[in-house]
Amino acid sequence: MVRIVSVLLPLPLPEAFDYEEAEGLALSVGDRVLAPLGARLAAGVVTGLREGAGGNRPLKVVAERLPGPPLSPATVEFVQWAARYAADGPGLPLAIALRGARAPLPRPERLAVATGRPPARLTPARARVLEAAAAGPSPPADLARRAEVSPAVVKGLIDDGALELRLAPRPDGFGPPDLDTPAPPLNASQAAAAASLRGMIAEGGFQAALLDGVTGSGKTEVYLEAVRAALAADPEGQVLILLPEIALTQALITRVTERFGAPPGEWHSGIAPPARRQVWDAVAEGRCRIVVGARSALFLPFRRLALVVVDEEHDTSFKQEDGFIYQARDLAVVRAKLEGASVILASATPSLESLRNAETGRYRWLRLADRHGEARLPDIRLVDLRETPPDSGRWISPPLAEAMAETLAAGEQTLLFLNRRGYAPLVLCRACGEKLTAPDTDSWLVEHRYTNRLVCHLTGFSMPRPATCPHCGAADSLVSIGPGVERLEEEARALFPEARISVFSSDTVRSAADARALVETMEAGGIDILVATQAAAKGHNFPNLTLVGVVDADLGLRGGDLRAAERTFQLLAQATGRAGRRDRPGRALIQTWAPDHPVMQALQAQDRDAFVRTELYERELAGLPPFGRLAAVVVSGRDPQALEGFVRELAAAAPNAEGVEVYGPADAPLALVRGRRRKRFLVRADRQVDLSAYMAAWKARVKPRGSIRLSVDIDPYSF
Ligand code: ADP
Repeated sequence: MVRIVSVLLPLPLPEAFDYEEAEGLALSVGDRVLAPLGARLAAGVVTGLREGAGGNRPLKVVAERLPGPPLSPATVEFVQWAARYAADGPGLPLAIALRGARAPLPRPERLAVATGRPPARLTPARARVLEAAAAGPSPPADLARRAEVSPAVVKGLIDDGALELRLAPRPDGFGPPDLDTPAPPLNASQAAAAASLRGMIAEGGFQAALLDGVTGSGKTEVYLEAVRAALAADPEGQVLILLPEIALTQALITRVTERFGAPPGEWHSGIAPPARRQVWDAVAEGRCRIVVGARSALFLPFRRLALVVVDEEHDTSFKQEDGFIYQARDLAVVRAKLEGASVILASATPSLESLRNAETGRYRWLRLADRHGEARLPDIRLVDLRETPPDSGRWISPPLAEAMAETLAAGEQTLLFLNRRGYAPLVLCRACGEKLTAPDTDSWLVEHRYTNRLVCHLTGFSMPRPATCPHCGAADSLVSIGPGVERLEEEARALFPEARISVFSSDTVRSAADARALVETMEAGGIDILVATQAAAKGHNFPNLTLVGVVDADLGLRGGDLRAAERTFQLLAQATGRAGRRDRPGRALIQTWAPDHPVMQALQAQDRDAFVRTELYERELAGLPPFGRLAAVVVSGRDPQALEGFVRELAAAAPNAEGVEVYGPADAPLALVRGRRRKRFLVRADRQVDLSAYMAAWKARVKPRGSIRLSVDIDPYSF
């Protein structure tokens, strides 16, 4: 009797393939193997094993197991679950899970070791080196430094045969965590929340908690206590902490390292391949017990996951929008469920989905109503731009300018928040009215003055700012419309020439190191005014920051997105929440043309619950998330006629199902990108409908031809 092995390959294929297991290989689910694929061998993962005959045609044989740790069976199950959820093939999430498995290991280190053979000549310097070498293998440069000699002395001893060089793998530094490091004493509400989380972890099995605490309430201290409890409860248990932004990882890594005496594994797109490989191996082997990472860390091959923390759980960066489309917060809950682990979702402004789960008792609801210690929540005031508008061509209103002057005079810091990169979001020709866009694309070119280019934020296209209008040829007719952070910086400089002003956006802060440097300068008081996009508006604590000015509060409310109000509320509550930490009271001024809008009213009254009630009520009436489900199908193609034909076919193929409504086709919000026209269907379903299964069934009825591409987005965010 042979065994049949199902092997999943990290490729866009609909399913795993069956092979025959070579004799004596004794494979298990999760093993990484080389499997024949056409004329070549492809690396894949075993997803199933069964006894059987080969069927009517002979199967190819899997003959080789790859070196290195396997994936845990729960990781394999999670990958398959994620694919089903996204109505996509399982090869794509597997590819994410294997990112790191095949990266090169760091080059081995060369260590000098004493051979015991005496050198030809023994000088005092050489004697010191040999004495230092007796302590154990060490890099030659270290040895020279410890013995206080020049590197040439060490080299001489190697040439003489008294020392020899050996190659040693580079250690990854993932030691066992120290669970007894003293932590700061928790205040009463923190202690109550921590006790509840400890209780949850002690009970074991899958459970979820929403850690819902105002900005500065000390949520991090609380969940670190839960991390400690989870690590203590299971000596092999592992913890994953997910963050929405790479820029926030450094601060947390420092805190985790201090708290547990060893650095956590760090996982995001900025990590170099060799370090990636070390983390991957150590996670799969169970040696790395704490990982701090961005959304893709969810696909790491944890051997025994005990706890997942999703910090800033409301953040839309947890939604992966291209390639394999998923919402990492939702999948974190699924992963915890499959592993029988606990999950903690933390935020000052939780998503309506999570609040609803807390309200209905599916999640433990832990609230921290006050800031830690003496710190108070900021005073929030709306600036009605209809009454006190800025001068023409300016964006800082007189009341905001006055508050900035006071803050500057008091030696305190201001954050000017504007969620727009670059200098101006639009360049327009005064002569012909043309708005400049990237070639064959609907989105405007954004003017960047630091680099003196016009950039398409969607496609990455860029060009120098032209002297004449590319459309009508008029000279000196192009004007920059509207502000970005660079233009705001210019305005702030004109108002306060003596102030030290910096810009924090993804253009000025390109790496985790840049972010750390800027945050440190800010903390050390080296900046008076920080002009920032959302890159700086979340997570950070700046003790001397007492004024937050929101320059264009209405920005996110334009456009017809279901979550526009929710998102604007979250973003502005987070941004204004940066003001006033520790002992200095803070204030926030919100510039708006619509001070009566429910979002502005809720922000001013600091009444999140009222906003949430109204918003949930409206969603319930419309059967929208979290009361119903949504999905989108986006179809794109180069040939408009072929696309029309396919879209009609797709519309006709939509299965009829109870509780499901299909809307469209309509132009997608960006109807033309890089020459591809885009059409979209929206699907709304009642909560009890398995919308993933519906979308998969629909997709299976059609076959995109030629240049046509189809993608399904479960729970779409941008529309
Ligand atoms: P949140 O994540 O809720 O915004 P943090 O966990 O970042 O808040 O805490 C805000 C600030 O208060 C941090 O500077 C943190 O070090 C401090 N802090 C929180 N809890 C305590 C505590 N129990 N003892 C001392 N400092 C604390």
